[in-house]
Amino acid sequence: VRRNPGEDEFHQAALEVLDSLGPVVAKHPHYVDAAIIPRLCEPERQIIFRVPWTDDRGEVQINRGFRVEFSSALGPYKGGLRFHPSVYLGTVKFLGFEQIFKNSLTGLPIGGGKGGSDFDPKGRSDGEVMRFCQSFMTELYRHLGEHTDVPAGDIGVGGRELGYLFGQYKRITNRYESGVLTGKGLAWGGSQVRTEATGYGLVYFVDEMLRSTDGGLDGTRVAVSGSGNVAIFAIEKLQALGAQVVTCSDSSGYVLDEDGIDLDLLKEVKLARRQRISAYVQERPRATLVEKGSVWEVPCDIALPCATQNELNGHDARALVANGCRVVAEGANMPCTPEAIDVLGQGGVAYAPGKAANAGGVATSALEMQQNASRDSWDFAYTQDRLEGIMRRIHRRCLETADEYGQPGDYVAGANIAGFTQVADAMLAMGVV
Ligand code: NDP
Repeated sequence: VRRNPGEDEFHQAALEVLDSLGPVVAKHPHYVDAAIIPRLCEPERQIIFRVPWTDDRGEVQINRGFRVEFSSALGPYKGGLRFHPSVYLGTVKFLGFEQIFKNSLTGLPIGGGKGGSDFDPKGRSDGEVMRFCQSFMTELYRHLGEHTDVPAGDIGVGGRELGYLFGQYKRITNRYESGVLTGKGLAWGGSQVRTEATGYGLVYFVDEMLRSTDGGLDGTRVAVSGSGNVAIFAIEKLQALGAQVVTCSDSSGYVLDEDGIDLDLLKEVKLARRQRISAYVQERPRATLVEKGSVWEVPCDIALPCATQNELNGHDARALVANGCRVVAEGANMPCTPEAIDVLGQGGVAYAPGKAANAGGVATSALEMQQNASRDSWDFAYTQDRLEGIMRRIHRRCLETADEYGQPGDYVAGANIAGFTQVADAMLAMGVV
């Protein structure tokens, strides 16, 4: 804490992992001798830079850009870029730290990193977003490369932003280096299923959780938060598997739609028109918009937080338990507070942390890198099968590791320990670097 003052989310993410590692260091004291844990808590490299750009009125704006290259023990740094006004170093470090273990869990050769900016794309014209992205990449490009560091999207960074970023990289370097970014459009080196991957992957993971207890998703009632990339495609797969999704949200409130979310309308409002969630309710008279209150007060069997960090607190967790919720799985990164996780555990709710449950996005990014490296492109069905297999393997790996370390059924312990040991073994093999 003294070394990283004010970085609250990073402290939270690091403590959550460290809390799980007691049985690991007891069994493998050589990890302590080699100072693996303090080494992992210090990013290999942190880059902070000025991003000047001109808005539509001709005024110069200054934002701050970040890239934290946390660990390259398993492969090139890999992790998304977040554009949101709340972004500061602590956000990027928490996300980058989580990414190390998530990427390890996928079983694919990718290290951990994350980046972003305090730029807010909301309400900005396409021209402004483009000029910002070009300025951001003009500084960042020198740190990237398909064997070095490979960013992708996250909050506020979707297909439009990635297009502008890739265009500027190509222009500056004079290289059509497809593997330098993932989440690209299908016409220019992107992978099928990448857009859907985090949401779909989350639902495959939940399906496995239910199978190992009491049945499938068919007929379950699900509360989802968020209405961005992860939420929309989680809802799509949930509905395909027979679940009734009754909520979604954005930062202006949540929608309760007892008839089940109308996905076509939600996509039209959020993806095509980039409007607020209130526009959904205007066109769906039986749905209501709740501006004050928590989406987690809506009774459900399964709750999937898919918006942002610390969006589900102890109070929310108590409401979920009281309403008989059986499963909470994180589509977002670190959406549950430590208190919420305790309350869910005491209430007998099965809880899956994001680094396992939302790993489908980065896993499919690694599949995109494979396709780029071999100048190939796979079809939707094949890519989706690969994603599904990866998610089911991550689920199995979490449970097997939890068993091995005497904590059966504990997804947090399983995910943290399995993710950590693979990175630690690679670091040991490579010496003190
Ligand atoms: P998007 O930008 O597409 O959507 C984010 C959604 O969350 C929007 O509905 C947004 O509402 C809402 N949201 C964001 N911040 C807040 C806030 N402070 N309060 C309330 N609602 C908020 O992002 P993604 O769907 O890509 O990402 C969502 C989460 O999933 C993040 O935690 C991200 O790190 C994580 N994730 C994403 C992956 C991906 O592949 N995209 C992969 C793995 C994890 P509003 O528009 O009003 O801001």
